[in-house]
Amino acid sequence: MLRSLAVFLLTLRVLAAQNTLPDADQKLARQICQEMVESRTGYTTGSTTPLVEALAARFKAAGFPAADIFVGGAAPKKANLVVRYRGSGTRKPILLLAHLDVVEALREDWTMDPFVFSEKDGYFYGRGTADDKAQASIWVANLIKFKREGFRPSRDIIVALTADEEGGGPFNGVDWLLKNHRELIDAEFALNEGARGMLINGKRVSNEIGLAEKGFSNFRFEVRNKGGHSARPVPDNAIYHLAAALSRLATHSFPMELTDVTRVYFRQLAKVETGQLAIDLAQLAEGNQAAMEKIAATSAPLNAMLRTTCVATLLEGGHAENALPQLAAANINCRILPTDTIANVLSVLKQVAGDKVTVTVTKDEGSSPASPLRPDVLKAFERLTDIMWPGVIAVPSMAVGGSDSRYLRVLGIPSYGAQGLFIDRDDVRAHGRDERMLVRSYYEGQKFLYELVKSLSSEQ
Ligand SMILES: [Zn+2]
Repeated sequence: MLRSLAVFLLTLRVLAAQNTLPDADQKLARQICQEMVESRTGYTTGSTTPLVEALAARFKAAGFPAADIFVGGAAPKKANLVVRYRGSGTRKPILLLAHLDVVEALREDWTMDPFVFSEKDGYFYGRGTADDKAQASIWVANLIKFKREGFRPSRDIIVALTADEEGGGPFNGVDWLLKNHRELIDAEFALNEGARGMLINGKRVSNEIGLAEKGFSNFRFEVRNKGGHSARPVPDNAIYHLAAALSRLATHSFPMELTDVTRVYFRQLAKVETGQLAIDLAQLAEGNQAAMEKIAATSAPLNAMLRTTCVATLLEGGHAENALPQLAAANINCRILPTDTIANVLSVLKQVAGDKVTVTVTKDEGSSPASPLRPDVLKAFERLTDIMWPGVIAVPSMAVGGSDSRYLRVLGIPSYGAQGLFIDRDDVRAHGRDERMLVRSYYEGQKFLYELVKSLSSEQ
């Protein structure tokens, strides 16, 4: 009995060990992750440059030739790093992308210092541990491992760690590289953030591969009025006109639409869920309107997958408490389905706003097409998911937020959200307080990405 228990425990240990790389590789990745988290790369107050320089030195020390390491960016504080690991050149390169900048974090908002990497209760804590320094540190550690092992890929493997993904402004590293040094990151396809593994009640259920994302745009609702003394009010009031337009917007819904990606997504999600929800999701995936209405009404995240959404996010108006307002305005943030257009959204918003309100586009980050369902990438992703986490299903997905993949997709370089890092569905802390990453998931993600890149770049 004791002996069989010992054998059983040993088997468990072996199985668990198979899901991570050897200790030395884990240690290296953790060390790099710590270095990244403790480097202040907040996109408004920080800089990616010191971190990029330290990483470049690390690659040099690991034996990468200086000619294969590029440091440069759109501004002195916005450096990007591109490192090329040479293969036989049989096939076009593969690009491994991650951003080094992070959303700002204030010490007083957190229960610990956001820029001190710490490990507690099975989690790594610190700004960037989920978004996006886990993946960035894994790319670095794994590329160094390939080099150490003398792995000879069939294609160059390029790691690009970039600035200002969160900023999204004029210093975006991927945008800058594509415009100024496209040859450095030109690839057959890219792997990036933009999809995650999903934990429900601590249990792994699905591993997403991101194929598309919604477009980001801002519109301005504006009403101007000649104003006057507030002691003699008139019905023609800028604030009331705006308020009425916003009330109509609150109850307006854009039509629901399934895309090639979301249809597969909902079909796969139906396999993960149970009971009535599973039935509804399966019917939704077949385009059943009643099921779509029902799901959209009960789940904000799933509603966002089904339609373009627009929501009021900022408000301004009036100039004195005793004057009729001469201006009332609101910012409307829209997330547009890849199959929808900004021109269509503008015309819908004009209708909703009515003739008292002018509607203009104030920000258009542009839409990007979905990446094709490449069989080589999808098969490798599914096979590895199956080997490492039996029972967990691979799910093609569309991100409702944005990522740098859009710059690549519009230029015809397919980009896939692939991480193999699992995050609690009901406790997403990216951009928020006490951001964290499950330690076990980090190391398993390291192995997953190691095997995925290896299988996509081995001689066939
Ligand atoms: Zn990110």
